[in-house]
Amino acid sequence: MVVGVLVELSNKNVDKIFEYCVPHNLIDKIKIGIRVIIPFGKMTLEGFVLEIKSEKNIDKELKYIIDIVDEEVVLNSELLELGKIIKRKTLATLIRCYQVMLPKALKAKRGSSINKKFDTIYKLNNINYDYDKLNEKQKSIIDIVKNKTEVIKKELENISSSSLKTLLKKNILLEEKKEHYRLKYSKFASVKMQLTDDQWKVVNKVINNKNKVYLLHGVTGSGKTEVYMEIIEYYLSLGKTSIVLVPEISLTPQMVNRFQQRFGDNIAAIHSALSDGEKYDEWRRICRGEANIVIGARSAIFAPLNNIGVIIIDEEHSDSYKQNDPNPRYNAKDIALLRGEYHNCSVILGSATPSLETMARANKGVYKLLSLTNRVNGKDLPEVNIVDMNEEMKRVKGHFSNILIENINTCLEKDEQIIILLNRRGYSSFVSCKNCGFTFKCPNCDITLTFHKSSNTMRCHYCGYGEKIYTECPSCKENSLNNLGVGTQKIEEELQNLFSKAKILRMDYDTTSKKGMHEKMIKSFKKQEYNILLGTQMVAKGLDFSNVTLVGVINADTSLNIPDFRSSENTFSLLSQVAGRSGRGDKAGKVIIQTFNKDHYAIEFTKTHNYLGFYNKEMIIRKQLKYPPFYYLCLIKISGKNNQYILNEASKIKRSLERNLTNTIILGPSTASIFKVNNIFRYNIILKYKNGKEIYLILEKILEHYKANCKLKVDVDFNPSQML
Ligand code: ADP
Ligand code: ZN
Repeated sequence: MVVGVLVELSNKNVDKIFEYCVPHNLIDKIKIGIRVIIPFGKMTLEGFVLEIKSEKNIDKELKYIIDIVDEEVVLNSELLELGKIIKRKTLATLIRCYQVMLPKALKAKRGSSINKKFDTIYKLNNINYDYDKLNEKQKSIIDIVKNKTEVIKKELENISSSSLKTLLKKNILLEEKKEHYRLKYSKFASVKMQLTDDQWKVVNKVINNKNKVYLLHGVTGSGKTEVYMEIIEYYLSLGKTSIVLVPEISLTPQMVNRFQQRFGDNIAAIHSALSDGEKYDEWRRICRGEANIVIGARSAIFAPLNNIGVIIIDEEHSDSYKQNDPNPRYNAKDIALLRGEYHNCSVILGSATPSLETMARANKGVYKLLSLTNRVNGKDLPEVNIVDMNEEMKRVKGHFSNILIENINTCLEKDEQIIILLNRRGYSSFVSCKNCGFTFKCPNCDITLTFHKSSNTMRCHYCGYGEKIYTECPSCKENSLNNLGVGTQKIEEELQNLFSKAKILRMDYDTTSKKGMHEKMIKSFKKQEYNILLGTQMVAKGLDFSNVTLVGVINADTSLNIPDFRSSENTFSLLSQVAGRSGRGDKAGKVIIQTFNKDHYAIEFTKTHNYLGFYNKEMIIRKQLKYPPFYYLCLIKISGKNNQYILNEASKIKRSLERNLTNTIILGPSTASIFKVNNIFRYNIILKYKNGKEIYLILEKILEHYKANCKLKVDVDFNPSQML
């Protein structure tokens, strides 16, 4: 037998299929999609069997496969085909496209340390024996085992091992190894909520016309999660499986809890808080059909489920669905659509603040739009107050405005809880005025200029425009440029000084880095062991605390200044999401947003919870400046040690693009916003286009041309989520 094997070496040079002969003893075990061990040059490597070329060993020159790695197929035919599509769309190597689908434990070399775990179990053998002739100890063992189908060794710990041995010898008992999983789910499934009429309408629309893509636009607290669960239950009743994606690890524990309460151990969770071993176990439970509902972050979109009924992407606007590095730079939303087509199933994209791309498609009728415009409990969305910090800075010393301080006090008196968001996205890479909040923007691209310390300049990293840095603010004429950010720790101190009796819980990357901390914090805040939850973006989304009636945002502006054309969209979305944490229970909620840009539309539309207003305004700007969803973007990243050489080659690449592309806007090469990292210089070229066909062809050639060049690296990122 001759097979085609894709070798596990992520070097562009070997991204092709090699032929091997199969020794006689392995012929029965060879299947497409299993991994094998093969000789490769002087090395021994792993690879995937992708083709069975002939039943006989014809070519005597071919080397032989050494062994197989798995008995079971690790990539089924759907995933094998999907990998090829991802390769075409991202220009990554095929092997990487397959590796990204599998848990770490299945990747070559790492696999050795992660094993399946086994219990020793005992069962009664079905033979005749005389119970009365057994001694007392033996009888007691039989009594324990008799009532169950099997017993784990631990349960027999207090019992004489010699009696156990005798029973085994006599064949009355059988000993077996049984795999056990590291994670435990309770089997318990709880009563479900009675859905509201609005919720039922959405559920019925989805289940009555299958295989469509839906955008579920539902305000915060409108009960989207309950809708998801109802739809999933419907598909379960048809024997179908489901995938639910949630953006970040921070959201997963809450979601997993809610799903477990309803579906018990029919769920599997895949996210970064699990150990490699736990992920491996979850993956195998899915393969074996032991879990029909998969909940997880980005990579869970590759869950090896069969017969999928619905794929749900919650908080679909989140940029965490895009893998930035390494290639394949795929977006889980695109994968969801591809798998949806394959399985002929529904795909639901849900959000209170859909991405512009998704809403634009819904408006065009490409996706079907479903809306939940009210909160479930009939409560209004919280009242949002904007505080102008330009004025407030004249009165207060710290970071808290008087109105926020007053409201926190009122809340504490009533024993209600508070969430404080310190917006830390995009800190200190840009120059801003400490006094008035002014920032410098590129006149060509409307993008915040990035500070370059080495040359003491500010530059646009889209088009390369640059100017010298000033010390005096051109807007307020104060010498107060360069606002270096403030950390959560500092704010925590300030809060504690202001409210000495309040119990404050700080949640940021430092305090949640230990495994399980995040979940623990959420639980204790929910139990009202703290008054104030202070944190970065991770407190903004998805959390459901009924006693929170006040949300404060310390510095709404920082994310407006990120040098990215999506900065307004991301800010609007972040503020709306965090506002949505307030007043989710019976009590009315309030939101106080502190800002230096009170007139910015991203802030103004937050005040009235006006997503559509924001959408319409932002679409006009995107159209004018030729950004998505009107144009596609491709980011070409060129990097290496020798600055002059890299810049020369980047310019050559640009000229070659100009010669080969029509109807494409080509920007750069410009310095990346983090220009020099570890002595590696980085340049970007940006393409804006409507039709990508010829772009793929020329970029493939460029990548091929540079693949063996060790002085320079070329990366491509289609539809990038970050423009850094
Ligand atoms: P969203 O995901 O849209 O923000 P959730 O699904 O988290 O909203 O629901 C918000 C809150 O309302 C949750 O506490 C949830 O348990 C509750 N809820 C949802 N649907 C109902 C319902 N039909 N009846 C009562 N409470 C509900
Ligand atoms: Zn520019």
